[in-house]
Amino acid sequence: MRTKMIAGNWKMHHRPQEARAFVEELGRVLWARNELYGPLKEGVAEAVLFPTALSLAAVQDALGDLPVSLGAQNAHWEDHGAFTGEIGAPMLADFGCAYILIGHSERRHLFHETEVELARKLRAVLSTSARCLFCVGELLEEREAGKTHQVLERQLLGALEGVTIPDLTDRFAVAYEPVWAIGTGKTASDGDAEEGCGYIRHLVADRYGQETAQHLQVLYGGSVKPGNTAGLMVQGDIDGLLVGGASLEVPSFVGILEAAL
Ligand code: PEP
Repeated sequence: MRTKMIAGNWKMHHRPQEARAFVEELGRVLWARNELYGPLKEGVAEAVLFPTALSLAAVQDALGDLPVSLGAQNAHWEDHGAFTGEIGAPMLADFGCAYILIGHSERRHLFHETEVELARKLRAVLSTSARCLFCVGELLEEREAGKTHQVLERQLLGALEGVTIPDLTDRFAVAYEPVWAIGTGKTASDGDAEEGCGYIRHLVADRYGQETAQHLQVLYGGSVKPGNTAGLMVQGDIDGLLVGGASLEVPSFVGILEAAL
């Protein structure tokens, strides 16, 4: 049984005060609703919030002992050094980040992070106590050219070179995020999302064996909302969701938790 995961990527939204208010409101809902609190507390499901680096402290403080994990949106591949504006993975892990997001399509396409850099970042995260949530996904033109599988294989297996099986099953999760579905309101159909997630599991099975693939957590991301959550979550290869826009407000984030858990 794989743990379900609902992750909220806040991108460059929510200043510390807004982040604190979000978590306090989320806490009031979770404490009052055992059908949501129970699965999170028992570890059947996991909720993770990825605020900006500036709001990590406010979120951590407001979370207290709420069963919600803290995540960072990015990390540098070096632990420390002359890299103005960057943060090393060990710094984030020491701070209390349980997850670090690597390879989000905005990092790949707006900030031109290369696959070599992303593989280095993945290794940097795996050298800490944090887990890596690694994003992969094709552009619309790649999909239209029939290259989706090729892109997923290159982005995922390229980055996994040298990663051990225990790290893959215990310290790594992958999010299939077709770029054309992110922030566009165009969710992939349940079938397309399942096909992409299933192909990722197939790639891992081929290289690392069925048992490893069956332990791997695979999430879908791209215009997830409360209304399309249930259809995605019943798919056999989708273990969770990475949510951008709909994670910014408590009612929609809770709506997704309700439909997913
Ligand atoms: C994301 O940021 O990873 C994402 C999937 O965004 P949205 O849910 O807004 O499409």
